Amino acid sequence: MECAREENSKDCPCTWTSCSRRGVCCLCLKHHLAKGELPGCCFSAEAEKTYDRSIDNFIRDYQQRSK
Ligand code: SF4
Repeated sequence: MECAREENSKDCPCTWTSCSRRGVCCLCLKHHLAKGELPGCCFSAEAEKTYDRSIDNFIRDYQQRSK
């Protein structure tokens, strides 16, 4: 199976557009999980822009969205 980088990049909501992992979701996820984080696509647009990818921030963001 070939990497769908081009297709993934079109849909990627991460605003760090110069990232070398952009569109390579397996590397993006691996990178952030290794740091105790989640990828930008897990966050709301507002939370994503802060570049705080921590799981604590994800929980805060998720709780805000659930209200
Ligand atoms: S979420 Fe992180 S690793 Fe993934 S494209 Fe954005 S900056 Fe790069």
